[in-house]
Amino acid sequence: MITIDGSMGEGGGQVLRSSLALALLSSTPLRIHKIRAGRARPGLMRQHLVAVQAACTISDAEVSGAELGSTELEFRPRAVRGGDYRFAIGGAGSTTLVFQTILLPLLLASSVPSTLGFEGGTHNPMAPPFDFLERCFLPLLARMGARVEVGLARHGFYPAGGGQWSATIQPLARLERLELLERGQIRAQCAESLCASLPGSIGVRQVDALSAALGWERAHCRPRMVAGTRGPGNALIASIESEHVTEQITGFGERGVSSERLAASVADEVRRYLAAGVPVGEHLADQLLLPLALGSGGAFRTLEPSLHFTTQLELLKLFLGTEGVLRQEGAEVWRIDVPGIASSHASR
Ligand code: ATP
Repeated sequence: MITIDGSMGEGGGQVLRSSLALALLSSTPLRIHKIRAGRARPGLMRQHLVAVQAACTISDAEVSGAELGSTELEFRPRAVRGGDYRFAIGGAGSTTLVFQTILLPLLLASSVPSTLGFEGGTHNPMAPPFDFLERCFLPLLARMGARVEVGLARHGFYPAGGGQWSATIQPLARLERLELLERGQIRAQCAESLCASLPGSIGVRQVDALSAALGWERAHCRPRMVAGTRGPGNALIASIESEHVTEQITGFGERGVSSERLAASVADEVRRYLAAGVPVGEHLADQLLLPLALGSGGAFRTLEPSLHFTTQLELLKLFLGTEGVLRQEGAEVWRIDVPGIASSHASR
């Protein structure tokens, strides 16, 4: 059994989710304590509990401590079984984070395809928005050989939630190596402001301000009214489509934050990414580490590593003995090389 201190590194939900995924893929029983110890409301919140339940469901695991507020969990997985599963958070917790807990186990450790249905938040602050999953993360996984399709039926914004989407996952024997060292030519720069049950003028002001701040063509920056949601919501998504990667930077509208201020903060992040000249932005960076390490390895250039990133590296070392090599190459340029367990098995 491996014991993980849930307060290590970033000390939030990611330590729990990545530990569950790595426990499933390495068939290792897991004990995790001090779950989310550093957060204002420590322990399992609904989104984290659903991630635990999803990990249990796909592996028929024995579990103790799987309750709201729990700060300690014991998880003993059995073999991962693909199939037809539904997971509802019952609020606006992030469904994309639940998906990322079970994606790699269902992809790499199951012999049969899976069809997943999710209900809850699809566009949450501090989590990958559905668009990011579809346009940025999954295309890179596809380049590694994965066949994963997703479809959004209804947006779910914080705080009402109620979004719905589905995913299909075809099992794969091994993920290929991924090298993402250059961004290549920029092919398109565009933005979308999603507005649900809010005045359309918000979206117009946001894309006006963003296109002016970045000098992007206004015709490529569009407001979009989103119908049929359970509650109001707003997200401003800036996309940079390059030859080798698509990156998205998302800002979420909040009461008391003007459209212009939101656009200015998204524009700042876009400028930082563009100026660094790296292919991989902050969030994609921490999310790529597990697929690389569990597959045939790889390397990428990115911005200064976040605490989420270094925490993932630490977890890879604890579960798999994987040592990523991180080097600073410039003021805002870092390179990470990650060995993959699939390639080391193959070379034995
Ligand atoms: P907490 O314990 O703080 O409540 P959590 O479970 O909500 O944590 P984190 O541990 O903070 O989540 O992990 C969030 C994940 O979402 C990270 O992988 C991060 O890179 C990703 N993420 C956050 N914001 C974005 C964004 N705007 N676009 C893409 N990915 C994002």
